Amino acid sequence: MVKAYDYIVADYAGNKVKVNGEEYKVGACCVDLLNSFNGPEEEKAFEELSLRIREESAVLESDVIPQEALDALGADIVSLLRLVKNVHPFTAFAADTQLDAVRGAFSADDAIRFRRLYNECCVTASYTGMSPYEVLRENRPDLDAKLFFDMAANSLKLFKNLTVLYGELYLDFIYSKRKIGALADQFCALPKADAEHMMPIAFETLPKVATQTKTQFVKADFSGRNKSQLANRLYFSRYIDFIFYDFYHGLGFGHYPRKCEICGKFYLKTDSRPQRYCSGLSGITGRNHRVLTCRAVGKRRGEKERAVNDSILIVYKRVRDGIRQDEHRGNISAELSKFAKIEAQNCKEKAIHDTAYANGAYVTDMNKDRFYAAAPSGGFGSA
Ligand SMILES: [Zn+2]
Repeated sequence: MVKAYDYIVADYAGNKVKVNGEEYKVGACCVDLLNSFNGPEEEKAFEELSLRIREESAVLESDVIPQEALDALGADIVSLLRLVKNVHPFTAFAADTQLDAVRGAFSADDAIRFRRLYNECCVTASYTGMSPYEVLRENRPDLDAKLFFDMAANSLKLFKNLTVLYGELYLDFIYSKRKIGALADQFCALPKADAEHMMPIAFETLPKVATQTKTQFVKADFSGRNKSQLANRLYFSRYIDFIFYDFYHGLGFGHYPRKCEICGKFYLKTDSRPQRYCSGLSGITGRNHRVLTCRAVGKRRGEKERAVNDSILIVYKRVRDGIRQDEHRGNISAELSKFAKIEAQNCKEKAIHDTAYANGAYVTDMNKDRFYAAAPSGGFGSA
């Protein structure tokens, strides 16, 4: 039997995905990838473990596999999973029962004996003209030959799948993090976050193909109103295939990672509202010494900005209306009116970009008589 932990088995239904019993919004795993690792030390440990699993996996090609090598592989995969235990979907793989299963698969006493006997049968078969199956049945009538061959083949397949998934994991992380991170930056700069603007640069930046080993329809239970759903089950033997699939699938539902302007972490954007902050904690303390969420901090900043801009605009509008009125009544020429209006506008722009100026000289500077007086000498004059 193929164990669940040697593939990323993902059930997709609508904008949700279920991996090993855990349910996420599609695209959420990309956000976790972008936020993964606290600092370079964690990343270094991850790199060393993953690359070592890759090297160690070479032993699986030999006829006789030493048990110590299998023990080392199992232990390294368990350590690696512990490092990514907060990164979806590996959260589902790093549960104690799953880790025990990985350890058990590699350290099972029988595994190595199976392999050795299997190899002997193959060697005998090669010079007797019998099949390995027949060799086994003749020499070991006590064993269930079919079950034995299944187990021998499956254990090797399991080892290989595990070492591909985890031996490639570091390189997969680095590559997909760079690609998806760059894309998230580009999305941020778009005039409009919709499929028309996003899809072309997504296809330009990311690999187009996500390879699945196999796929089937299953009934899966999800949260919410429609509990039981028909889900499309996909088996991913490499993380990179899963994560790009998750990204594209998420994008199809308008989900994509976006960087929070307050805390700098990524969050999943799931609608088109012009929201620039995540709902996590900002680390900034408000009244009552409570830590504020990034949204609360963003809202306050927005309000402050708006309030300041509003008071600037009130002063500006009063002066501009005064200039219009003077022109209308024939007190000033059209040229002088135009000149004064441009001056007033410049004054307003300066105040918006310079808080000290807005709170200081702005109010005295914003004066129509001052603008009239500043007009080029011998210029427009009064009407
Ligand atoms: Zn935030």
